[in-house]
Amino acid sequence: MSLDKMLRDVVREEVAKVLGPLTAIVTDLQAQGAVVARLASALGTPIKRGPGRPPKAVALTATKAKRGRKAAVGASGGARVCALEDCGRPARSKGYCAAHYQKYRMLERTDRLPSDWKPYAAEGSVKNLALPRGRAGAKALAEARKK
Ligand SMILES: [Zn+2]
Repeated sequence: MSLDKMLRDVVREEVAKVLGPLTAIVTDLQAQGAVVARLASALGTPIKRGPGRPPKAVALTATKAKRGRKAAVGASGGARVCALEDCGRPARSKGYCAAHYQKYRMLERTDRLPSDWKPYAAEGSVKNLALPRGRAGAKALAEARKK
């Protein structure tokens, strides 16, 4: 039986030798964990390890201005309507709606702007202009550019 006891002692010694530093590390980690837990309770929020995600941006949509432009407001206080007759869309630029302002710009650029197409003309006072299409339109545009 003494041989058995000796063997047990040897094994216990070897195990203690191997596990000695490990147990020290484990107790050290436990102590650190206790410190982290105490800090977390003091700060009121659990401490995350690692870089983690930055805090979520606060929703700015409530304070941000609405996208797009507001419709132009006429002298009467209500939203201004396009200057072209039978259009009725809200005016956006120079008294014209988006579509008719583009037409206005195109006519101005090609020197074909009729005299009644004035900026900030009265609502519904401007007569629409039917432009020739296709080959006739190309011919008219070339003649307008020659001038
Ligand atoms: Zn219009």
